Amino acid sequence: MKRVIIIGGGPAGLMAATQLLKSDCEILLLDQKASVGRKFLVAGDGGFNLTHSETQSEFREKYDSDWIKQAVKQFSNKDWIKFLKQIGIETKVGSSGKIFPEDAIKPIQVLNAWKQLLEPRIQFILNTRFVDFDEKQVEVERDGKLEKIDFDYLVLALGGKSWPVTGSDGFWTAVFEQKGIVLNPFQSSNSGLVLYENWLGDLEGKILKNIRVSAGDQSCSGDLVCTSYGLEGKPAYAINGALRKMEKPFFNVDLKPQMTQQKVFEVLKKAKNPSQGLKELKLGEVAIFWIRNFVSKQRFLDPKELAKAIKEFSIGIKGFRPIEEVISCAGGVSDAEISESGELNKFPNVFVAGEMIDWDAPTGGYLIQGCVSSGCISGKTIRNRLLAE
Ligand SMILES: Cc1cc2nc3c(=O)[nH]c(=O)nc-3n(C[C@H](O)[C@H](O)[C@H](O)COP(=O)(O)OP(=O)(O)OC[C@H]3O[C@@H](n4cnc5c(N)ncnc54)[C@H](O)[C@@H]3O)c2cc1C
Repeated sequence: MKRVIIIGGGPAGLMAATQLLKSDCEILLLDQKASVGRKFLVAGDGGFNLTHSETQSEFREKYDSDWIKQAVKQFSNKDWIKFLKQIGIETKVGSSGKIFPEDAIKPIQVLNAWKQLLEPRIQFILNTRFVDFDEKQVEVERDGKLEKIDFDYLVLALGGKSWPVTGSDGFWTAVFEQKGIVLNPFQSSNSGLVLYENWLGDLEGKILKNIRVSAGDQSCSGDLVCTSYGLEGKPAYAINGALRKMEKPFFNVDLKPQMTQQKVFEVLKKAKNPSQGLKELKLGEVAIFWIRNFVSKQRFLDPKELAKAIKEFSIGIKGFRPIEEVISCAGGVSDAEISESGELNKFPNVFVAGEMIDWDAPTGGYLIQGCVSSGCISGKTIRNRLLAE
């Protein structure tokens, strides 16, 4: 009987395994941790945003590479929701179209329902670390001993490099580099923004409400939270990609997106002085601190210039948070190294899936969706080959 080995029990590896359930083969799923799906559960801690309800075309536009766009086309948000329903997980559409499990369903219940589907058919081998591979064998370390296991097909779904405590520690990058497989360097993504010290003031914990940020061709509305080092929140994460492309990264904040620049100007002009004008615009403490400290006196006293500053407040960033702390990372296996199904050009029958491939997307369910879509196409491709054989 043919043997398929999947290494990595995150959403990508679990979905690859799911596609093989009805195939006539032996399936081993290995993970270096004592349990699978640890980052999946961490994702559940802050609201389990599994995917998004947008139309297919809007949805795919959120991804940055053609490779992941075609993967998401093959296994879409609708397919993922349908699969969840099949394993007994009802979903609901939350704020701004995000998809979550129904209120009463906890993240661990989602993982357990998925494991229950897989367990009768798939052999889980835990506490087992992937060390190396070639065309026919994978080398693993278990109980301090190295061991080689033969495979007919291998799926590596080893994750990126963020939150290494969950198991995705990026060890595999050294193995791939040794084999001449091109990797694009990992970079923090969906990361908080680190600001220069003079921007921080005494603002930790304060919220910049209902603003709009933009950088390059990316923009996003929402709230930003001030931290000891800078800013966190969806709008900050959404512009990471554009900021990464800039030599001297900066972004603009529209501190009053509900009003046109002309309207802001009119309010300021009518006010007895600029400070009164800022009050009437109901700008919060953070906005007022920044305006007072970073808008020149000359601009502050000129309502036209002050209106412009409020609508296009420019902030340079010092950098991103360390990769270990962030939600996801950009970088990984270059799509020039893989086929549409994730098969490595240099190693036929060896597939990669999930966050270890170089693609990026904002938070909002797009990350888990990208991982299950890519896991699905690798598993499906193997299933079809097994059938043909
Ligand atoms: C705080 C946080 C919140 C998030 N929230 C969301 C969200 O709300 N919505 C969303 O869509 N996404 C979210 N994500 C992102 C999402 O969890 C990841 O994109 C997804 O889990 C990646 O799946 P994966 O299968 O590629 O890798 P992982 O889930 O990282 O799984 C990789 C697996 O490979 C194993 N492994 C790695 N190296 C080895 C080795 N050498 N040997 C054996 N096993 C190995 C690991 O132990 C792990 O089990 C969040 C992430 C974080 C950190």
